[in-house]
Amino acid sequence: MRITLSLLGIVALAAPAIASKPAPAQPLNPLLTEWTTPFGVPPFDLIKPEHFMPALEEAMLRHNKEVEAIATNPKAPTFDNTVAALDDSGELLANVGNVFGVLSSAETNEKLEAVEAKVRPMLASHADDICLSKALFKRVKAVYEERAKLHLDPEQATLLQTTYRRFVRGGANLAPAQKERLRAINAELSSLIVKFSDNLLKETNAYKLVVDTKADLAGLSEDQIATAAEAAKSAGLAGKWVFTLKAPSIWPFLRSSSNRERRKQILAAYAMRCDKGGETDNRHVFAKIAALRVEKAQLLGYKTWANFILDEYMAKTPENVYKLLDQLWRPALAKAKLEAADIQAMIDAEHGGFKLEPWDWRYYSEKVKKAKYDLDEEVIKPYLPIDEVRQGAFTLANRLYGITFTELTNIPVYNPEVKVYEVKEKDGKHVGILYMDSYPRPGKRGGAWCSNIRDQWIKDGRFVTPVVYNVHNLSRPSGDTPALLTPEEAETIFHEFGHALHALFSNCRFRGSGGNIAQDFVELPSQVMENWVFEPDLLKLYARHYKTGEPMPEALVAKICKAGTFNKGFAMTEYLAAALLDMDWHTMTEPKIQDADAFEKASLDKWGLIPEILTRYRTTYFAHSADEYSAGYYSYTWSAVLDSDAFQAFKEKGDIFDQATAKAFRELLSKSGGEDPAVLFRLFRGRDPKVDALLEKRGLK
Ligand SMILES: [Zn+2]
Repeated sequence: MRITLSLLGIVALAAPAIASKPAPAQPLNPLLTEWTTPFGVPPFDLIKPEHFMPALEEAMLRHNKEVEAIATNPKAPTFDNTVAALDDSGELLANVGNVFGVLSSAETNEKLEAVEAKVRPMLASHADDICLSKALFKRVKAVYEERAKLHLDPEQATLLQTTYRRFVRGGANLAPAQKERLRAINAELSSLIVKFSDNLLKETNAYKLVVDTKADLAGLSEDQIATAAEAAKSAGLAGKWVFTLKAPSIWPFLRSSSNRERRKQILAAYAMRCDKGGETDNRHVFAKIAALRVEKAQLLGYKTWANFILDEYMAKTPENVYKLLDQLWRPALAKAKLEAADIQAMIDAEHGGFKLEPWDWRYYSEKVKKAKYDLDEEVIKPYLPIDEVRQGAFTLANRLYGITFTELTNIPVYNPEVKVYEVKEKDGKHVGILYMDSYPRPGKRGGAWCSNIRDQWIKDGRFVTPVVYNVHNLSRPSGDTPALLTPEEAETIFHEFGHALHALFSNCRFRGSGGNIAQDFVELPSQVMENWVFEPDLLKLYARHYKTGEPMPEALVAKICKAGTFNKGFAMTEYLAAALLDMDWHTMTEPKIQDADAFEKASLDKWGLIPEILTRYRTTYFAHSADEYSAGYYSYTWSAVLDSDAFQAFKEKGDIFDQATAKAFRELLSKSGGEDPAVLFRLFRGRDPKVDALLEKRGLK
């Protein structure tokens, strides 16, 4: 195989150098030794960037040997010696790759970026070697063709099906010349995706809005001003105030600053990221990614990239996705237009003398909210200190599932800000480990996410427990004041925590199960948790004033509930515009490199996005669409149909902690890696999902 040869080449070149000059005794590479840490977690304190390249090369080499042994097994192919054996293979690569994934997304630096740029195409090529191996595919196919006679249980049947399909979708049926072209496309795509993400991180980090006169801070809270002063100090600009494009800085600024010019400045900087020419421009990078994807899809017999991707998802076809998006787009846009009229009326009442623009929306909608509901985010935040919100999520999980969370201080972490928890069943049985990493740092990518450090599976009859992490970019504490979260940030904590529970509850036999879950199901376990955040019965268990310890007053809770659908037209519209843009990019039928700006404009104009609203992501910083959520950004909405309907099941029982419903929901989560999610949902709800609960929740009905 190509990669084995090139890896042997590297080893052969390195060998004489080592032989001619005896190297001092090297400490062992911690990625290649057994981890003797508590619970066998990665020894982050010992791992250095230079350990990754040799460890990943060694891991690929070992994986190749394991795969080779399966392909050349003299015995006739069976489910166990081929399909299950393939699932078992590559454990070291998965472990090292997972650790690399943590650091390259949450704690990266130039050294790690260099490793990533080099290793991503190598990993793509490694995956190709497996999928394009004739001998291996022959065995998988032989088992697949016999499947009716094998009496497989649902988990085995799913693994066989996904394994076979992975080969076919990886090009196993292609002619040799097409296989070569596919390899080249995969290698180029992987490099472009790394480039896209690095460019975005660079441009996001590079921008600072520096304010040097106090008058320009009008409207901001003391808390915001103090944080901006601290940011200025650490940027060597003591005495000034710095605002950035990171979520905890830009969005509160846009909601509070009464300085229209400054609002325009910061939003323009945000919206023009990687769209200004130069080294870090992403227009061509994205357009090239989209064109290569069309070519790849067509090589594999699909009309568009979206057809190729959706074939594996619950939605199945682009038509089904557009149908759902359209069902929501029209009412969302209509509601957004009403909201825009309310805001314009507020501007006019203040004799503003201007037309509403995107940089005004958040500021004025806060004012409208205050006028309509007497509700002010600054009044809510003191009741949402980060520790209480996190505890609120833990309390919810405890109420629903009986599990507990204990902070551990003896676990090595990759940054001192990371907190680690042991998750246990009610009876004390170990469930898994959860890392939580809350605040923005220069080496961390934007947004919030959850991933596995160790997958749950059953190895040689032994249950391997999961190790999971949540990463956020939340408001930092400022001086003696703890981090006080916005309602949206509180929802984000619950959201990512829901992903973590999904991984922690996994009860599947095969290691590949977690990765086999349909993308448009994946946001169900996370989004469902958001439904509880502002439920009065839960709020009273966690929301406490950071100074007085007083629970959130009932009158405030009532106001929050009453304002539940406020500004949802805006939120849905900016999201759906991005979801439609993602679909439009990925339903191109020609592998032609487009002018990214023109393509985006045509898409948004076609759908009729109003100029007062900016799409949630523009092409040049649409990381979801460039990477793992390509033709899949809609899945938040697909999952939202499921999560609203699932939460409705609790509501129907009249108890948001209903034990029987919680038990059934945990069962759904624990099996979703190994079985068809549509079937599992039907089992849970007794019917197919309905869109009604979602429409009602968003005020679109
Ligand atoms: Zn999510």
